[in-house]
Amino acid sequence: MQTLYNTLSRQKEVLNTIEPGKVRMYSCGPTVYDFYHIGNARTFTTFDMVYRWLTATGYEVNYVRNITDIDDKIIERANENGEPMEALTERMTAAMFEDSDRLKLLRPTHSPRATQYVDAMLDIIRMLEAKGIAYRADPVNNSGDVYYSVRAFPEYGKLSRKNLDDLQAGERVAVASAKRDPLDFVLWKAAKPNEPKWPSIFGDGRPGWHIECSAMCREVLGEEIDIHGGGWDLQFPHHENEIAQSEGVFERGSGKKFARYWMHAAFLNVDQEKMSKSLGNFFTLRDVLDKLDAVQGGETVRFFLMRGHYRSEINYSWDTLEDARQTLLGFYIALKDVPPAQTTLDWSNPYAARFRAALEDDFDTPAAFAVLHELRREINRGASAEMAGLLKALGGTIGLLQDAPEEFVQGAATSAGLDVDALVAERNTSKAAKNFARADEIRKQLDAAGIVLEDKPGGITQWRRK
Ligand code: AMP
Ligand code: ZN
Repeated sequence: MQTLYNTLSRQKEVLNTIEPGKVRMYSCGPTVYDFYHIGNARTFTTFDMVYRWLTATGYEVNYVRNITDIDDKIIERANENGEPMEALTERMTAAMFEDSDRLKLLRPTHSPRATQYVDAMLDIIRMLEAKGIAYRADPVNNSGDVYYSVRAFPEYGKLSRKNLDDLQAGERVAVASAKRDPLDFVLWKAAKPNEPKWPSIFGDGRPGWHIECSAMCREVLGEEIDIHGGGWDLQFPHHENEIAQSEGVFERGSGKKFARYWMHAAFLNVDQEKMSKSLGNFFTLRDVLDKLDAVQGGETVRFFLMRGHYRSEINYSWDTLEDARQTLLGFYIALKDVPPAQTTLDWSNPYAARFRAALEDDFDTPAAFAVLHELRREINRGASAEMAGLLKALGGTIGLLQDAPEEFVQGAATSAGLDVDALVAERNTSKAAKNFARADEIRKQLDAAGIVLEDKPGGITQWRRK
């Protein structure tokens, strides 16, 4: 039985989907004004893991991760670069998929782009206005913003457990604006010079950020969905506002819910500090991957991101990454030494059952990895191809351990310009000719290049990266 922590109830709950056997899942995707950073990667990897795991246990998952391709930051960056907004978002969207492939993220079932759903956004805004929940700032000239009236939605604050009056007290002097309440948020922004705009019954303008997700969710998955996810920071105001918009159009008292379960991935910190541009400790995934071994890097980062429970903060540093690489290498060495038998997963196998129990308990990846470590030790002791097959198959349910072990352990070391195989062969001939000095010299040269030699029975020498 799958359980998951629901931010809405602050409890672990049993996953009970709208349609049996099917999951409708939406997670907030990137704003494509720049390459995405490893903090974003943490959240995306979390939902990739959820997607893969639910699929592996028999659910048919419709997984949507949107692309925000209209936003203040995009307009600003496109202006700075002196390029059309579409040129920037096209390039960054392509880069986003490239980076995601390197991280072994499966493509979501759908990746809707906000600019393709403006009509759907306007539909919701119109419905909200008809219900007295949305209002125009300048109804006379019809040239102003359209706002959401938070006081008109009695359940406002139910996700973040914020109370409107407390929020109001925290709000400094209301900025001069047409808002009826300082907490009201914008649904439609009136057109400004040199900004992209769409025609609408509210006048020319562009959508606010929150309405984008409500509309894409509704169009692609339907009015009600099972799981809605995102990073921790999105609980308020983004997700609170999505609920207010999406449920605002439901009939009062219908009991309908926009999303049954809200999942939030905890933050990734850098050297124990919050990662932010101003602190200068900000890394794009691309930069991190480019510094790592080309063969091992993607899975190393992926494994590192999944090692902590998704609701615990994790710390990024070169040491934690290297530690993740070593651990992953340990698994691949076991699979290289004992080639895995072809296996179909048998969930009644005690290791498989415990692995499954861990992930069914709110996606407890650390507990699941503990089972994989036990298996690895078992493989190293008993050289059982069945156990190796099981290790590979279990790893595969969450997107790990699927590379060819020989290639993974050797990494991209050969690109250092050394012909490792030739040197290893020369070392063996030197040894056979009792030229131990030369054999030793070669071993040292390879060692300095980060390559370890393993002499196996029968005069075979294997090598791998340290
Ligand atoms: P953005 O492109 O900023 O809208 O963010 C895309 C996703 O990444 C959202 O779900 C954010 O909550 C998430 N995110 C942003 N920063 C971090 C971080 N440091 N750690 C984990 N997730 C993050
Ligand atoms: Zn969103």
